[in-house]
Amino acid sequence: MQHVTGLKCTICGKTYSVDEIAYVCPKHGDAGIVDVQYDYDFIKSRISRESLAQIPPLAGGARGGIWRYKPLLPVEPDSPVPPLRVGWTPLYNAPRLAARLGLQHVWVKDDGVGPTASFKDRASALAVVKAQEAGAEIITTASTGNAAAALAGLSASVGLPAVIFVPKSAPPAKITQHLIYGAREILVDGTYDDAFELTLKVAQEYGWYNRNTAYNPYMTEGKKTGVYEICEQLGWEAPDRIFVPVGDGCIIGGIHKGLKDLLALGWIDRMPKLMGVQAAGSAPLVDAFERGLQGWEMQPVAAHSVADSIVAGLPRDRNKALAAARETGGAFIAVADQEILNAIPVVAQNTGVFSEPAAAAAYAGLVKAVAEGLVASEERVVVMLTGSGLKDIASAMKTVPEPPIIAPTLDAVRELLGRA
Ligand SMILES: *Cc1c(COP(=O)(O)O)cnc(C)c1O
Ligand SMILES: [Zn+2]
Repeated sequence: MQHVTGLKCTICGKTYSVDEIAYVCPKHGDAGIVDVQYDYDFIKSRISRESLAQIPPLAGGARGGIWRYKPLLPVEPDSPVPPLRVGWTPLYNAPRLAARLGLQHVWVKDDGVGPTASFKDRASALAVVKAQEAGAEIITTASTGNAAAALAGLSASVGLPAVIFVPKSAPPAKITQHLIYGAREILVDGTYDDAFELTLKVAQEYGWYNRNTAYNPYMTEGKKTGVYEICEQLGWEAPDRIFVPVGDGCIIGGIHKGLKDLLALGWIDRMPKLMGVQAAGSAPLVDAFERGLQGWEMQPVAAHSVADSIVAGLPRDRNKALAAARETGGAFIAVADQEILNAIPVVAQNTGVFSEPAAAAAYAGLVKAVAEGLVASEERVVVMLTGSGLKDIASAMKTVPEPPIIAPTLDAVRELLGRA
C-alpha cells in the first residue's frame, strides 16, 4: 500500500507502519485506537474529481460503489473486493423537512438501502478485504446488530466464515440476518460493551481476524466513503453541517476523516460542522463534550435506549468522535427516546425514507439543534439516515395507530369513512 504511510495513535501520536501493528497502539492497549495516514501527493497522481466522473457510480464490481474511491482506501490496489454493491446510496433533497424546521436546505443520506440495510456495510466491506489480505480463515466481530449483519452478508458474498457476538437483546430482524447469512451467531447475556470485551479476548485466543469497531483501524476508512459521496453528490460543494447518530463514534470519526481527506486533496474548500447525536440514555460523549474531557479520560457508564444501534457505555471511537465535533465547530447533543420515536414517522412521511430508531435520532438531533438556535436558516444541512426501519418494526409500530379491521364489503368501508 504505497499510499498509506502509517497508523498514528490517537492518544500519543506515535506512528507505526502497517506491518508493525494490526489494530491498536501497543503502549495504550485496547484503548490505543490508531488513525490511518496517507500520502496525498501520491493519491493525487491516481485519482481526481475528473477521473471519478468517468466511473459510473453504480458500475458493478471493483469500480462501483465505495470502490470508486479505492485509491483513497487502505487496501492493496489489486485486492479483490466483495461482489455486493456497497455505497453510492441516495442523497435526497428534503424540502418538506426543511420547511417544517424553517430551514432552506436539508438533505437526507439514505444508507438504509445497502445490501444489509445499514451504514455498516461500508465498514464491513473493508473488513472482508483486509481479512482476506491478511489470509484470515475466520473473521469475527462484536456488534449491537448491524455491524454483524453487514459482516455476515459481506462474508457470505465471498465465502469467508464469520463468528459474531451480539447482546441477546438485539432486535429479531438483525439476529435473523446473521443467521440467514450463515454466520455463527453467539448471543451474549450482557451488553454490547460486554460483547466487545469478550470478542477482543476470543479473537486473540483463536487467532481470528477482528472487525471490532474502532479497534480495527480500517473501519473508519470504510465509513468515510459516506461523506465522499455526499460531497460528490453536491457537486463538490461541502454542506455546512452534518447530523450523525453516534454510538461508538466510528461513523462521525469516519465522516471527519473523509472530509479531512477531501480538504487535503483540495476537492472541497471548507470543513462542515459535525453534529453528533446520542440517545439521552446512552450519552457519554455528550457528557464528555460538555465537560471538556478527552476520550481517554472517559469512564464506562450504564447505557440504554430504544435506539439499540447507538447504545454504547464506553464509545470505542471516543477519541476520534470528540475530535470530529471539536475540530469542526460542531457539537454533541442528546435526544430522548420519545423524540427519537417521534422522528421515525416524520422523516418517513416527509421524505419517503423509513429509518430505524438510531437513524431517526439524527433527525431528532436536528430538530433539537434548530430549537436551540444552533442552526441558521440558510445553512446547507445533511442528515445521515444510517439504517432501515425494517430493522426494528416493533419500535416503529409504537409511533403509529393500529389500522382498523373491517369486513370485505363496500358498506363496511362506507361506515368507516363516513360517506354514502
Ligand atoms: C452503528 C450505527 C450507528 C452509530 O455508529 P457508531 O460508529 O457506533 O457511532 C448509527 N446508526 C446505525 C443504524 C448504526 O447501525
Ligand atoms: Zn499510543
